[in-house]
Amino acid sequence: MNFPELDQIDELRAHLRAWSERNPPFWQTHQEKLEDQVTSLAHQLGEERFMSYVVPRSYGGIRETVQARDLCVIREELAHFGALADVMFGVQALASQPIVIGGTEEQKKKYLPLLARGENIGAFALTEPEAGSDVAAISLRVNKVSGGYCITGSKKFISNAGVAQVTLSLPPPTWTPRERESAPWSWRRIRSVLR
Ligand SMILES: Cc1cc2nc3c(=O)[nH]c(=O)nc-3n(C[C@H](O)[C@H](O)[C@H](O)COP(=O)(O)OP(=O)(O)OC[C@H]3O[C@@H](n4cnc5c(N)ncnc54)[C@H](O)[C@@H]3O)c2cc1C
Repeated sequence: MNFPELDQIDELRAHLRAWSERNPPFWQTHQEKLEDQVTSLAHQLGEERFMSYVVPRSYGGIRETVQARDLCVIREELAHFGALADVMFGVQALASQPIVIGGTEEQKKKYLPLLARGENIGAFALTEPEAGSDVAAISLRVNKVSGGYCITGSKKFISNAGVAQVTLSLPPPTWTPRERESAPWSWRRIRSVLR
């Protein structure tokens, strides 16, 4: 029996190994600022098209649809290379998937190609000082103001917060159905605020 997708997985793994052998981990390259190091790491992962596996082909991805198996292989190999590379990739996937699954067409076209190329770095901002596992305790406030929305609240433990251009967050569960309907994104499908 022939499983062509397994050959593709082997090729992907070989590509990752060859890349990690060619590139010393960033902490051996003596760049000064951590922000610069992680930004250049994200760009490298984008240039090698590893980040492209987090979005579908029609928005700059490799596969027709995002495949969990690809993400597992990439994370496994990147973790072997360096924990930070694995985290950068994992959070990029975490920030992209809500858009892939529930974003509007406009949001997908705007955000996904940049995330797939590693030109934008993503973050997913759920945790607050008083809300972690208990998502319903989120106290973030979102108010409509002239020209957009004012988002007020505190977040903690947000990976990539200092370097991300695209941050996903969850609006407060206290929103009324009317507030949800009037939001500029598709609440029912995405339930997130895009910055
Ligand atoms: C390195 C790191 C990176 C992170 N990156 C991000 C990020 O990018 N974005 C983000 O949003 N968050 C991030 N977090 C936060 C992480 O996701 C939170 O720690 C998580 O949401 C848990 O929240 P908490 O710490 O408030 O723990 P709590 O929710 O207070 O939970 C504490 C303990 O109680 C247990 N517990 C909670 N509720 C129940 C229950 N009902 N029944 C039984 N047990 C329960 C939990 O399992 C846990 O052991 C990061 C955390 C770390 C350490």
